[in-house]
Amino acid sequence: MPPPQLAVIGGGQLARMMQQAAVGLGIHLRLLAEAPDVSAAQVIVDHVVGDYTDLDTLRTVVAATPVVTFDHEHVPPEHLRTLEAEGHACRPGPDALLYAQDKSDMRSRLSGLGVPCPRSAVIASRADLEEFGLPAVVKTTRGGYDGKGVWVVRAMADADAAFDSGRGLLAEELVDFRRELSALVARSPSGQVVAYPVVESRQADGVCAEVIAPAPDLDPALDAQARAMAERIATELGVTGILAVELFETTDGRLLVNELAMRPHNTGHWTIDGAHTSQFENHLRAVLDLPLGPAGARSPWAVMVNILGGAVDDLDAQRAVALAAVPDVRVHLYGKAVKAGRKVGHVTAYGPDLDDALFRARHAAHLFTDGVTS
Ligand code: ADP
Repeated sequence: MPPPQLAVIGGGQLARMMQQAAVGLGIHLRLLAEAPDVSAAQVIVDHVVGDYTDLDTLRTVVAATPVVTFDHEHVPPEHLRTLEAEGHACRPGPDALLYAQDKSDMRSRLSGLGVPCPRSAVIASRADLEEFGLPAVVKTTRGGYDGKGVWVVRAMADADAAFDSGRGLLAEELVDFRRELSALVARSPSGQVVAYPVVESRQADGVCAEVIAPAPDLDPALDAQARAMAERIATELGVTGILAVELFETTDGRLLVNELAMRPHNTGHWTIDGAHTSQFENHLRAVLDLPLGPAGARSPWAVMVNILGGAVDDLDAQRAVALAAVPDVRVHLYGKAVKAGRKVGHVTAYGPDLDDALFRARHAAHLFTDGVTS
């Protein structure tokens, strides 16, 4: 087997889908997986099972690889600095990753760049929150995901769980938004940047449910602004790989940045089937400083619907049912056991007609989720 070119830390579905792109490019990935049977360990032959917070485990995994990338943003930054000092390129690096790890650092850095964000303040007490004003959204500054660690606070009692969490907290204005958008770019260490079409992401209970590419009826000026903002943030923060900028489109027609992710992102899964170069391929190309591929759409519309754990627990059995009902849909299952609300796969449909693509993607996803159509 040729030596590994890239180490990937974290064995979730994002690393699994990186492998799909790596196969085509002939790139040998080496994985650090949390357990032997996690999503990416099922498909990346060269994997080590261990704890990503343990420096010696990280050293073992990256020993023969010049470059390291990530399935998630939780590797301790001090470990990344050590790996860099020992000659490995971490992409993205610890200085950039900080802004995907800590929401208060992200808010102050972006505000310093003049990037529009919701009004926010770090809060240490109920008095701070009262002074900030309600309604508000209270978030843990670190460690939140899929809406966990986010509380909408209309009355002070709504903040009890937030204060009980014992975590650092940030208060934000409750943004009156028309919809949520996402702007993805890929950036290589030599500075090449490509921007994907801006998409609409629809959430249910804080979890991304479906994504429409491109965002329907998006004002061309906002579209250009969103792409330019994502390109500028990637460049100013020195991000390498994929940067996802989650945005609110406010009811009065402004864009505000919600948060940043520095890895392939759920709002970019449609690109596997719907774009000229998938976000996973461009992530690999970017972190290895290879030329990036074109990020335009291959079809007028693409719709991605997540398969969240529901009534169906045997996805293998349901595959035949879904494909029989909707042959023209691309299925991506992550090899994960079904648990309520857990992301276990996604489907993508594309074509010239948005309603038709929406119907096909939703129909197939419901067959995998609940075994019925809605
Ligand atoms: P996570 O890190 O869990 O993804 P986010 O900060 O993205 O947390 O928040 C999750 C969801 O909560 C967002 O997608 C959005 O729907 C809602 N939300 C977050 N911040 C605000 C805000 N300031 N105003 C209104 N809604 C918000």
